[in-house]
Amino acid sequence: MQFFKNKKRIRELNECLTNLSAKISELEKQRATVQAIIASMVEGVVAVDKDTKILSVNPSVEKMFEISAKEAEGKFFLEVIRNNDIASVIDEALKKVEFISRELHLVWPVHKVFQVNASPILQDNSVSGCVLVIHDITEMRKLEVMRRDFVANVSHELKTPLTSIKGFIETLLEGALDDKENSRDFLKIIQEHADRLDSLTSDLLDLSCLESKEIKLEAEKVDLKILADEALAGFKAQLKKKDIQGINEIPPGVFVNADINKMRQVFTNLIDNAIKFNKEKGLIKIYKEESGDKYKIVVEDSGIGIPAKDTPRIFERFYRVDRARSRELGGTGLGLSIVRHIVDLHGGTVGVESTEGLGSKFWFILPK
Ligand code: ADP
Repeated sequence: MQFFKNKKRIRELNECLTNLSAKISELEKQRATVQAIIASMVEGVVAVDKDTKILSVNPSVEKMFEISAKEAEGKFFLEVIRNNDIASVIDEALKKVEFISRELHLVWPVHKVFQVNASPILQDNSVSGCVLVIHDITEMRKLEVMRRDFVANVSHELKTPLTSIKGFIETLLEGALDDKENSRDFLKIIQEHADRLDSLTSDLLDLSCLESKEIKLEAEKVDLKILADEALAGFKAQLKKKDIQGINEIPPGVFVNADINKMRQVFTNLIDNAIKFNKEKGLIKIYKEESGDKYKIVVEDSGIGIPAKDTPRIFERFYRVDRARSRELGGTGLGLSIVRHIVDLHGGTVGVESTEGLGSKFWFILPK
């Protein structure tokens, strides 16, 4: 009898053991899944205990703060990531036992904007620690600032000619219309400002078209020598007016696979600037340099040049060395930005070398 009872118990114990080991391996599987998820997250994840000692950090945190998980674990949060703002988010979540979310602009240990979310971990109704999720929103905020600046710039650029047009129309309506000589001058000024609005809106349309994802390039075999010749010929009157010599040294047979109209615009914008910012009796030279499987096309001028501090930003939208001068010359501040976009779309790069007072070399590199 006793023998049978023991046998039953052993069987029950064995079943229990099998269940237990199945449970353990299930838990192990779940743990591995959670770990894999946390490890692959782009957001930084830090778990700390109730004394803010680090339990674990994921690889994103290692990258964000240039720390090593191995060295971090077991140390106090502030010892590893020396930032009081993040530490205070953890403290608050632990103290208030609630979810805390904050946007932090860090300058130390890294220059970034973070969205930091801290959730307390509850165990048997008391706080045992806190999980911190850190989103790097630096790029997003940068883009927002850029968009805001762009809208402000566009509004300002449109407002200036519109205010002048309105002013001159009012003057004409208030009596200047009867003054034959002056009224003609006023109309001419109105025309100039209307032309300005026209070039601004067409440049803006070009830009938004180039920036839209649906843009299609109509690529064909393009002869860069012929294109540069045609572009220079289009500026004959302006070259003559300033007595500038325009030379195209690109040899025949320099072909690229490109959208011919877009490349025409690149030459037009670069030559237009090379004339506008040149001196009387100046020189413009267009030539080709070879670099491996690429062509480098240079538009060089003997103009006023660009101060070194401005060259890194010169291809930005609306960036101008001298705003008033650019406007006076009929510029919109968008020409170089359009050039950069077009060359980017062709898989190329743009650049500039310049010496103030001596001249500039604007170049673009395209695959052969
Ligand atoms: P815009 O010419 O309409 O002002 P761009 O985007 O074409 O606008 O050029 C931006 C600025 O870069 C110009 O206002 C000018 O200050 C500078 N720049 C461009 N090309 C030249 C050049 N060849 N020589 C000197 N400055 C230049």
